[in-house]
Amino acid sequence: MIKKQDFYINGQWVAPKVARDYQVIDPASEEPCAVISLGDQADTDAAVGAAKAALPAWKAADPAERIAAVERIAEIYARRGEEMAQAISLEMGAPIDLARKNQFGAGVYHIANFIAAAKDFPWVHPLGDGTPGAMIAHEAVGVVGLITPWNWPMNQVTLKVIPAILAGCTMVLKPSEESPLSSLLFAEILDEAGLPPGVFNLVNGDGAGVGTQLSTHPDVEMISFTGSTRAGRAISKAAAETLKRVTLELGGKGANLVFADADDEAVARGVKHCFQNSGQSCNAPTRMLVERSAYDRAVEIARKTAEETKVASPREEGKHIGPVVNKSQFEKIQGLIEKGVAEGAKLVFGGPGRPENLNRGFYVRPTVFADCTPDMTIMNEEIFGPVLSIMPFDSEDQAIEVANATPYGLTNYVQSGDGARRNRLARALHSGMVEMNGEDRGAGAPFGGVGSSGRAREGGRWGIEEFCDVKSISGWAE
Ligand code: NAD
Repeated sequence: MIKKQDFYINGQWVAPKVARDYQVIDPASEEPCAVISLGDQADTDAAVGAAKAALPAWKAADPAERIAAVERIAEIYARRGEEMAQAISLEMGAPIDLARKNQFGAGVYHIANFIAAAKDFPWVHPLGDGTPGAMIAHEAVGVVGLITPWNWPMNQVTLKVIPAILAGCTMVLKPSEESPLSSLLFAEILDEAGLPPGVFNLVNGDGAGVGTQLSTHPDVEMISFTGSTRAGRAISKAAAETLKRVTLELGGKGANLVFADADDEAVARGVKHCFQNSGQSCNAPTRMLVERSAYDRAVEIARKTAEETKVASPREEGKHIGPVVNKSQFEKIQGLIEKGVAEGAKLVFGGPGRPENLNRGFYVRPTVFADCTPDMTIMNEEIFGPVLSIMPFDSEDQAIEVANATPYGLTNYVQSGDGARRNRLARALHSGMVEMNGEDRGAGAPFGGVGSSGRAREGGRWGIEEFCDVKSISGWAE
């Protein structure tokens, strides 16, 4: 059993003030795999105090010094990649190849994009021509609290910690108590990179404890949060009294609009994307809307793709999907699959229960529903499991209406060979991101949503701006 009860505060590993052990469960075996501690108010206060003491010097440091620190982090992160992939795979069940390439890899990608963005970042620049002496400065917000979920642990941690460091903030990270091992390793990486003590601190804990302590703390200027819409609301309320900046990256219910002129791979690609990471992605394309003339064929391709999706242990190499993170997520997903059946959706593949030959571990059957209608629960609630809901549409306007008829607005997807239509839809869909024809968003593009998906913008230049206050100056000497 891994024992990692200490927190990282002021450049040291320190024991919790009050012992409160918490078992991390391996979702593949349902057995405990590690013990951490849940922090107490005194631990949170110590970490915030260390961050506050480190702030003046770090905020005033030359941006080049901060960039150099992140370059050292990038090098150590890359060197410890295999350890990181193993930690992620163990704590949240990502199959090891996905953990290496996508989960660990997301960190490599974001760190590189942040370094590039920071090198070009206009820390202090003139307001514009014709306004002599008027300057704009981007300055660190201050001490920030970073609260992250378990589904893409290093993706979300690097999207917060790295821009905060580059902006000159000091911070306390509270990773998810479900997936703390990768963040504890990340703290070791930052320690080795030699950041000044107090710039980065880590306290483990749950939402009711350390999460709330950070959200209400008078010395924390900002909370950057990724996770459920429920917790996003709770944090916004808790942070109101101290008037913190709160940036939220929440859930989603992405629509994937597949037109009859889409490329041959569009449907299979959409199904695989929906099932990736066992469906535990806020930007998963979970509602597939298909033009009626292509509908029957699309449903058959989706069924076949689900049938070909292997479910197996995270320890096995290969392109299969693993278990979902924990018992409560497993039960929530089972309940939603049952609800889909009860509300009259056509079960095309999968359904309730575990896949054959897997009677232990939080494994879910890849599931496809067809003939869904917009009012069904499975078309509205974020399922966070490998479950796809398909429905036909008759016109572009109807497709837009259904796509936009959700309080979420993270990523929508369009598959069509018609460029003019794609461009129209890109503007008509109510979401922070629109991805079309399987093209990735560009390196350094912002990630974030609208409405109940929260309005954070993470990644690249926009991700650094989130951690800056804008100062307006006049009378600047040329
Ligand atoms: P959660 O929102 O409860 O947990 C995410 C993080 O927030 C964890 O670190 C948790 O300790 C913390 N937290 C929880 N309540 C808090 C509070 N009141 N104050 C401060 N911090 C708090 O998410 P979950 O329970 O792990 O997952 C539940 C659902 O959330 C999922 O089914 C999914 O719909 C959604 N989710 C979305 C994302 C995303 O990337 N958008 C990620 C994870 C989960």
